[in-house]
Amino acid sequence: MRFVDAHTHLEFFALKGLPIEKAKSKKDLISMIESAERKPVVAYGWSEDILGETIERKDIDKFPFPVLLMRVDAHIGVINKKVMEELQLNPSEKFDPEKGYVYEEVLWEITSMLKPKEIGWALIKGQEEALSKEIVEIHDFVDSKIAETYFRLREEGNLKLRVALMPFYKDYENVLRLFDKYGEDDFLKLGWIKIFVDGSIGARTAYLKEPYRDKASRGILLKTEEELINIIKELEAKNLRVAIHAIGDGAIDVVLNAFEKADIKLKEHRIEHAEMIDSYQAKRVKDMGIVLCIQPNFNPVFMQTYIKALGEDRARRMNPLKMLDEMGVNMIFGSDMMPFDPEVGLKYASQILGQEKALYYYTGLKHKG
Ligand SMILES: [Zn+2]
Repeated sequence: MRFVDAHTHLEFFALKGLPIEKAKSKKDLISMIESAERKPVVAYGWSEDILGETIERKDIDKFPFPVLLMRVDAHIGVINKKVMEELQLNPSEKFDPEKGYVYEEVLWEITSMLKPKEIGWALIKGQEEALSKEIVEIHDFVDSKIAETYFRLREEGNLKLRVALMPFYKDYENVLRLFDKYGEDDFLKLGWIKIFVDGSIGARTAYLKEPYRDKASRGILLKTEEELINIIKELEAKNLRVAIHAIGDGAIDVVLNAFEKADIKLKEHRIEHAEMIDSYQAKRVKDMGIVLCIQPNFNPVFMQTYIKALGEDRARRMNPLKMLDEMGVNMIFGSDMMPFDPEVGLKYASQILGQEKALYYYTGLKHKG
């Protein structure tokens, strides 16, 4: 097979020094941190489903060095006292000092401060993993530092994977400058500009129309409609397309309204995930020539989380591959690293759509009309 994984974060390999995703209990996890060689400890991949319970700051406060443990969905992290002392964070909806939980932008900022500075080795490791899974192309989300590392790997002749760089909005101009300096070729292309509009179901930060089942909240909206309209216009004026992260049904509405009011001229803007999309929203997506980047692996991996957070009814309507396919919505599939293995999504999508169609969506974007 020659897969295209249209949603990846190879930089996560830089956080995989400590394989906390393999910890079967909190005790396991704590002893991994005790024997960690690299400090500060920044690690990715825990989940309360596997640990059997959630992890909080009181579990890791005893360590005299900074510890940040990112949950598998990358939308919550838990930090210890040492990190709090060093950063002097103010409590907010994105920082819970009691539990030591940090969410969304606060989490990303702490991660980028604590993560290893040199990540070329991690990208190489990710590339090896990709090639071993017959992935030939990825769409990888990057800041300008990661982008620069990709250009360096290419100069050194070490890039063997086709990569579309997907710059985060806050840093996209610097990434454009790198393309001006080093140039595009078959291996490194500029993709879509990434914007976050909400969080995730697992973190209860996806922005919903109705509250969560187990939390009196509708999640967090990270950008208003007006802000989005301005960003979309700004980027379209430079002939750039957006890839907007929107998971909750409320967030998807905000995005669709923004596309409509921005009066988009370009086809093939993207929405990433669109997990809670309904048929009315799907129709609008199709009419505006928008592409959905869907993670078919999410239903098999996260259904228990969905049911807990949303209840059976909403959970069963998540990631509606069949409906989207039948409506002729333009889709591409990507793993979002959960796990970084197209076989997981392919297996599920094949059950729903048949193998031929499932493969079709795993081989990259088809341009329609
Ligand atoms: Zn992602």
